[in-house]
Formats: sequence, C-alpha cells, structure tokens
Amino acid sequence: MNKIKAKRYAKLLAKCGLNIKKGQTVFIAAAVDQVEFVEMVVEECYRAGAKRVVMVWQCDSVTKIDYAYQTLETLSEVTPFAEAKLKFKADDLSCRLFIESSDPDAMQGVDMEKVAKARQAQFPIIKPYRDKMENKHQWCIAAAAGKAWAKKLFPTLSDKQAVDALWEKIFVAARADGPDPIKDWARHNDDLAKKCDYLNGLRLVSLEYKSANGTDLTVGLNKNCLFLGGAEATLSNRMFNANIPSEEIFTSPKAGVAEGIVYATKPLSYQGQLIEDFSVRFAEGKVVEVKAKKNEDLLKKMVAMDEGASMLGECALIPYDSPINNTGILFYNTLFDENASCHLALGHGFTNCMMGFEDMTQEECTKKGINDSMIHVDFMIGTKDLSIVGVTASGERVQIFKDGNWAIDF
Ligand code: ZN
Repeated sequence: MNKIKAKRYAKLLAKCGLNIKKGQTVFIAAAVDQVEFVEMVVEECYRAGAKRVVMVWQCDSVTKIDYAYQTLETLSEVTPFAEAKLKFKADDLSCRLFIESSDPDAMQGVDMEKVAKARQAQFPIIKPYRDKMENKHQWCIAAAAGKAWAKKLFPTLSDKQAVDALWEKIFVAARADGPDPIKDWARHNDDLAKKCDYLNGLRLVSLEYKSANGTDLTVGLNKNCLFLGGAEATLSNRMFNANIPSEEIFTSPKAGVAEGIVYATKPLSYQGQLIEDFSVRFAEGKVVEVKAKKNEDLLKKMVAMDEGASMLGECALIPYDSPINNTGILFYNTLFDENASCHLALGHGFTNCMMGFEDMTQEECTKKGINDSMIHVDFMIGTKDLSIVGVTASGERVQIFKDGNWAIDF
C-alpha cells in the first residue's frame, strides 16, 4: 500500500465522504485485516472533528461459523444490546463509515436461505430505526484491499503484490490518486450536479432502454422525483458523499411501472455468491420471470424477499467510458461495478429523490411511487451500444445515451 496515497484517501473519506461535524460520533465497520488503513481513517476522523470513533470489527470466517452453528431462531433474534446500539445511532445520528474489503466468494457454502429468513425476521425490529435515521445522518461506503479479494482479481501475483495492485486500482477508481483528492472531488461533484440539472429540466416520464443483447425495457419515472448524483445533503443540510467512488446519476423510478426485459451485463454478487448471465422480465412493474445460467434459485429467492423486492428502486446512468470501467477490471464488488455501468436496482428506493420528501413519511413516499423493501440490489445493464431515450410529459423523445455514453455534450 502506498502510504501517502492511503493517507490522502483516508482524509477524503473523513472530510468528503462523511464530512464529520465537530463533536459527532463516527461508527466504522471494517474487517480485522485492515488495521493499518483503519488507523489512518480513525485519526483523520478525529482530526475532522469526531469526538468518538466506534469500531465495528468484522471477520467473514467467524461470521460463517456463526451462521453454521446458530439456530434459525437465534439468528433471527435482535438482542437487546443490538437494539440498544441501533437506538443510540438513530437518536445520536452518528456518522457511519463502511469499509468493504471482503472476498466476493466469502459466503460460499453458507445456507443462505437460513440467513435470508433470519434477516426477514429481524427486519420489522430494525426498520423503524432505519426509517428514523434515513436522510438525517452522513454515511459513506468505501473500500480497502483485502487479501482474498485481491487474489481473486490478480490470481497470478503474490499475496502482497495482489493487495498492492488492488489498492492502486481502488485509488484510481475512487479519484484518490492525485495530490489533492478533496479538490478533485469538489470538481467531480460539480460535474455530476450539472448533469442532474440537465435531466431534471427535461421533466421525463419514462426511460426506454435498448441494446443489441436483447434489452428492451421501459421504466416509468415519478413525476415529482429528481435525478441526483455526487454529494447529497442530510435534512439538516450537511453535504456528504455516500459512495466513494461514485460516478452515477440516479433516480428512483415509479414502483409498479416497468415493461419488458433487461439483460445483466456483469455478474451480481449477492449474499456472498455470484449470480451470472441473467435476465429479468417485468410486466406491470413487477418481475414476472428471471433466468440465470448460474444461481438462478438465489435470484428467484432474492426477488421474493418481500413485495418490494420484485419492483425497481433505482435507475442509474453511468457512461460506458467511466474511469472504473476503463480500469478494465471486474471488481466483483457492487460499489465499484455499479459505478462502472448503467444499472438498475431491485428493492428499496430513495425517498430523497422525491421533491418535498422532507415533510413526508416513508409511507407517504411509498404511496407516491418510491419502492419500499428490505433489499436494495444493484445489477449492471450497461453495454457499448446501449441507447436510452427519455420521454417527456408532452411525448417528446430525447436521446439521453447513445452507444453507451451520454448523447449530450456538457
Ligand atoms: Zn446506484
């Protein structure tokens, strides 16, 4: 790991990702093999004004043992101390940083049905806290180079070389490889904001996706929803970047309005397993058929998790020639792969896309067309020849993407 770059990246996460307010508490989730990088991040959090940093150390191999030995009943319980922690976060509106470094295949061999059932059982207890925090605190998902993940990407390199190589790719993808990543991100956020302004000015009612691979899908948009991208604001107007990297312009489409079929163009890592070569067909906004060459059953279970799991929660636009796609690497990690390709997400939508959401409850947003679900799973649909046409309320057709990239010169 290049320590100079890593320190700049750590500072970027604290200052631009979380934008910590003086006196805030910060929760950081990271894997036990990331101590060296986590030390840098924790220090930058304190320097940025945190009064307290709470570590949530994670270890996939131990989690796997828990999954194997605990009964479904035990796994399904939200213990009083887990609930107390949730309550603290919801009351305190602490910052939350998630540093991902897991092996994409970490959960292979785990009984995922049992895990999914446990999550379903926990959800009613967790949901009120999640709703209470939504749009009110700064959070950020970023990545660090884990050994198993690096070896999957660079199998011919030694362990150390592979980890160093992955770190370099992370720095490039996260726009953190220059001398002043914070300044680079200010420029990047401005650029994304310009694109959002353009799209929002069109007042689109639907998007039509077409590609030579068979994709032919029309997605309805919400009249009162905006396209967002880059930095976002909490309800108290604190800017933060929820994803580093982030290249996308996204919105929450109208739940229940989608027709046609869409083909995934990258494997989907879901609950530690890869779903590959799949398609999803929609009718009246709901998934009516899924096909996959690998892990079709898992995909079927995913869309059946709850009612909202079979409807769309996100449409995101990313040019085919994005910096991440141009690294030429499939990261097997959604944070990166979703920012390398146009994508859709099944499940939970983003209430903050809806104008006036500040004064609305989750239920009111759901009623107006923002999907609600316990899952939010992105899958990639970008191709070199993808065409996206936007249709306005007056029926005007506007070419948004042509040959995989923006059709407009900004
Ligand atoms: Zn997205």
